[in-house]
Amino acid sequence: TSLPARPQPKPGVLDIEAYVPGKSKAPAGVRLHKLSSNETPFGASPEVQAALADVAAHLELYPDGQAGALKAAIAEVHDLPASRILCGNGSDELLGLLAQAFLSPGDEAIHTEHGFLVYDIYIRAAGATPVVARERDERAEVDAILACVTPRTRIVFLANPNNPTGTYLPAAEIERLHAALPANVLLVLDAAYAEYVRREDYRAGTEMVAANRNVVMTRTFSKIHGLAGLRIGWMLAPEEIVDALDRIRGPFNLNAMAIAAGAAAIRDSAHVEKSVAHNDAWLERLTRELSALGLRVTPSVGNFVLVHFPDRAGHTAADADAFLTTRGFILRRVTGYGFPNALRMTVGSAEANEGVLAVLKDFLAK
Ligand code: PMP
Repeated sequence: TSLPARPQPKPGVLDIEAYVPGKSKAPAGVRLHKLSSNETPFGASPEVQAALADVAAHLELYPDGQAGALKAAIAEVHDLPASRILCGNGSDELLGLLAQAFLSPGDEAIHTEHGFLVYDIYIRAAGATPVVARERDERAEVDAILACVTPRTRIVFLANPNNPTGTYLPAAEIERLHAALPANVLLVLDAAYAEYVRREDYRAGTEMVAANRNVVMTRTFSKIHGLAGLRIGWMLAPEEIVDALDRIRGPFNLNAMAIAAGAAAIRDSAHVEKSVAHNDAWLERLTRELSALGLRVTPSVGNFVLVHFPDRAGHTAADADAFLTTRGFILRRVTGYGFPNALRMTVGSAEANEGVLAVLKDFLAK
């Protein structure tokens, strides 16, 4: 046999479907309302601009490889030990590092049916096998996850709340899941939307991480803090897990702008509160008004809603997407998440939200 003529990716890499982000373009001449990537309508805290100007004056310098100023700010605001925090180039990077550090070929990692798509990508990239737990009513189900556990299971990835459904599991269910998992299985609580959740029975995972050696929580600055463009995430984990990931990450995985901006943003609690109040009011109103139009809306606790369209020719999600797009409203197709006939809509500004409601009313009347 002859040698391959060119370098080949390792087995499995070309079976991975690349992540396709939400669209971000409106037709020429139409004002764009981008509601496709769960970004905040409020932008970043005004404090961020001043922090960035300082950094911009010294771009020749390497950033602090430990992102110390950012860890310190997170530790202070959330009252956590900085030694248990690791920052990443988006929480995506941290999810990938967890997969790299804990999964080998032959291992299995579990995610749920309509779970966030990057878990599957990182599990496969690590050479391991994704195992999909079914959901019930578009919500993760503890018993279904537990039924997937085998001696090969190494990680359970759970977005809480989940994207794109917006559903969540209450703390008691997460505890029941954890209690039944073998001690060598890592439970990854992806709490990207935690700040938006206003439910008494919800916990992002801070206490569970503190009390256990096999639980980590990931968070992001991309949503409530309005810094998606700078790529900043963080993880709370047992120190030995922080140590393991510190060994394999890029030495300067956060750039200097990200470190400074994140530290400024997280201290601006007024900005966060304003965003949460707006989201709360609109989440309720969008759910109510979209339902009144005859569309089924999955009950969400995040900053987005999953809207299901009728199976009627001319009124499907694809038709709605085309109709909205020509008017400048960009929602997210979620076919890749197993929802061929739904669109995910980010809670936007009042103007954008009202615009979508008006356009959908026209669309459904035609
Ligand atoms: N987890 C979930 C559930 C998400 O929806 C997202 C953003 N789409 C992320 C993680 C990643 O966020 P980032 O990498 O921007 O921190």
